[in-house]
Amino acid sequence: MRLHEYQAKEVFSDAGIPTPDSALAQSVDEAVEAAEDIGYPVAVKAQVHVGGRGKAGGIKLAENREEAEDAADSILGMDLKGYTVEKLLVEAAVDFTDELYVGVTMDRGEGKPVAMVSSKGGVNIEEVAEEDPDAIAREHVDPAFGMHPYQARKAVYDAGVDREVALDAASVLTTLYDLWEDKDASDAEINPLMVTADDEVVAADAVLNIDGDALFRHPDLAEMEDEAAEDELEAKANDYGFDYVRLDGNVGIIGNGAGLVMTTLDLVDHYGGSPANFLDIGGGAKAERVTNALDMVFSDENVDSVVFNIFGGITRGDEVAKGINEALESLDEIPKPVVVRLAGTNAEEGMEILNTDLVQVEATLEDAVQRAVKNAQEVEQ
Ligand code: GDP
Ligand code: MN
Repeated sequence: MRLHEYQAKEVFSDAGIPTPDSALAQSVDEAVEAAEDIGYPVAVKAQVHVGGRGKAGGIKLAENREEAEDAADSILGMDLKGYTVEKLLVEAAVDFTDELYVGVTMDRGEGKPVAMVSSKGGVNIEEVAEEDPDAIAREHVDPAFGMHPYQARKAVYDAGVDREVALDAASVLTTLYDLWEDKDASDAEINPLMVTADDEVVAADAVLNIDGDALFRHPDLAEMEDEAAEDELEAKANDYGFDYVRLDGNVGIIGNGAGLVMTTLDLVDHYGGSPANFLDIGGGAKAERVTNALDMVFSDENVDSVVFNIFGGITRGDEVAKGINEALESLDEIPKPVVVRLAGTNAEEGMEILNTDLVQVEATLEDAVQRAVKNAQEVEQ
């Protein structure tokens, strides 16, 4: 689960990491009001889940009321890499002399968390990582002990951070590691950690991604999840407890198990179609989950046809078939053609039960996907 910058900054700030004064705005008027309260200059920043907002025009500095109004007006509603900007963070602009990078993530290769620091922070850290990996200092942390203060100081020293701000930067890194652990985060990152003219460090950007499976331990963060969802469908998926990613094609895909769903996506693409989503309904495909899954794909206006790909394991094929029948029978009309492929335990019984007035049944994955792609193409014409 990804938090927005404004949410991550709230968490960082509560933990004692310095952040600029800021306020969230959802309209031009709110943005101007926030800018007037905070005092100029301000940075007006798009709150969407994409990196590189600065380069893409999603961040503007404003020196006065008129500029704040213009900035808010031009960024609100803007399309940033496929996401429409609906929220702005207005914050006190930082007068900086340097941009650092600090981050904590899991190094799967080492099987340990790793804390990273670079004095080449700013917008191009990915390039730095590729072209000049030595410019990023790394310290692996033994999770049983947590990050020792000397490790934070060493990372900062190795990265060549100016001594005037080294201790403050090390303290931010320690706090970031503690947060990463406490919040069950997968990534915690500050880029840039700005160095000001009077030698202070300020988190000018914030990334905090939480392991979705640990959200139940963090009700406060779970509450932020719906707010962080980019669109209605993602919010709905959160409510239903589905793993869901919206894509830009027109073939709706429902399956159980991430691997199976990915395979179905690949096949749709292989047969010349374009997937509208990734939707994993998980184990136990009872009627209610099937109904909810159909509600998801049917309410996506881009979806022209649907393919169900279910592998009966613990959940038997006949149970799934009953679920699909019940779900479809409860609808007044089926807005988009549905193709079903069942495999695994009791698949044959399941296929016999399926109500063929409501769904098209195919025996193999290839046939099911091809039929769904064809259904979608027919709608398109
Ligand atoms: P990202 O591009 O999505 O990572 O957004 P960031 O918040 O990291 O901002 C990108 C860049 O915009 C920074 O590296 C700065 O160069 C600039 N920027 C962001 N906030 C401020 C600010 O308060 N003052 C100034 N002068 N520049 C800023
Ligand atoms: Mn950034």
